Amino acid sequence: MKFIGKGSKAFSILNNKCPRCSMGDFFFSHPYHFKYFGKKHYNCSHCDLKFEREPGFFFGSMFVSYAISVALFVAWWITKSILFPQILAGEMVLIMMVIQIGFAPINLYGSKLIWLNLFVKFDKEYS
Ligand SMILES: [Zn+2]
Repeated sequence: MKFIGKGSKAFSILNNKCPRCSMGDFFFSHPYHFKYFGKKHYNCSHCDLKFEREPGFFFGSMFVSYAISVALFVAWWITKSILFPQILAGEMVLIMMVIQIGFAPINLYGSKLIWLNLFVKFDKEYS
């Protein structure tokens, strides 16, 4: 399986595409287009896959979102420790809050796409 090309999980997650066909969009728009923020299609426009597989399916994406937030925090902590060792703990937490808020839309979009990709496999018949 290719890592980044059409049909891969990475392609679906990074390009906001249906994991089964890699053709139809999952969300209406990009994460920072606030008019349609968080609004997703019910079905794939290309292969008709029902995205919300059961009621409350996307509650599980909270675990992915948490993991992304922790990864961001650890990345910031390491970066801070190496490049800016003079920053105080309180300042570090404030900067981390700004980073988390700034990345929140990407985190929301990414976590839902990753969660869906955990349960749906690419199928050549639909692409
Ligand atoms: Zn599809």
